[in-house]
Amino acid sequence: MGSRMGTKRKIILAGNWKMNKTSIEAIDLANALNRELGDVQEVDVVICPAYTALSEVHEVLTDSNIRLGAQDLHWENAGAFTGEVSALMLKSVGVEYVIIGHSERRQYFGETNDSVNKKLKAALKNGLLPIVCVGENLKEREAGKTFAVVQNHCEGSLAGLTPDELRQVVLAYEPVWAIGTGKTATPAQAQEVHQFIRGLLGKMFSADAAAGVRIQYGGSVTPENIAELIAGEDIDGALVGGASLKGESFVKIVKHCCGILK
Ligand code: PEP
Repeated sequence: MGSRMGTKRKIILAGNWKMNKTSIEAIDLANALNRELGDVQEVDVVICPAYTALSEVHEVLTDSNIRLGAQDLHWENAGAFTGEVSALMLKSVGVEYVIIGHSERRQYFGETNDSVNKKLKAALKNGLLPIVCVGENLKEREAGKTFAVVQNHCEGSLAGLTPDELRQVVLAYEPVWAIGTGKTATPAQAQEVHQFIRGLLGKMFSADAAAGVRIQYGGSVTPENIAELIAGEDIDGALVGGASLKGESFVKIVKHCCGILK
């Protein structure tokens, strides 16, 4: 396996808190993270609480290097879309990043490449930095369709973007079979797909834009496996679910990536 040495891509670690944490619990966790990671400069750190806690967590993060992210958005800025939240609304409470097309949304809420694409364009138009998720499920991997599925997700989700717009996007390769299951892709499996994605982006956009895009790995990342995953040449960070819900484990993951912990 290669190594990230020599790449100019800054590592980005994002915690996806999913539908967890009341406002008070979210404030507590954000405070704990801020104490340990508020000054971190070596890597980008993003936390993505539920909508209900965004405003309060933003206050906790005043003067912090930790950035605020949301877990989804609607593609319109306003209108009769009961239950939805727009890019404008997210920006108004201090959100800078937004996860789009997470596999749980594709699996349980009918998210498609088409809706991901519309959300991505809305995020970019409004100055939010998107984290776009792609990845195959177990059946697809076992049927040898991993690359075809990932290609389909990338082509569909990123359709119509310019190379300059692509530069604003973070991609997250998340094999669905590794999410919340405790099964992690091996570093070689992850690197293989990341390399494939970068090559594909090179063909879809330009070699230069593809070389600059950060691609996170997601799927049961822990303090124990982050170091070997991040060693992959095309692995530029992690999207972390379960292990981001405990301050201690997320802090360790970040510190490993800063070279503070070995
Ligand atoms: C995720 O939800 O994006 C994720 C990777 O979850 P976990 O780390 O729990 O597998």
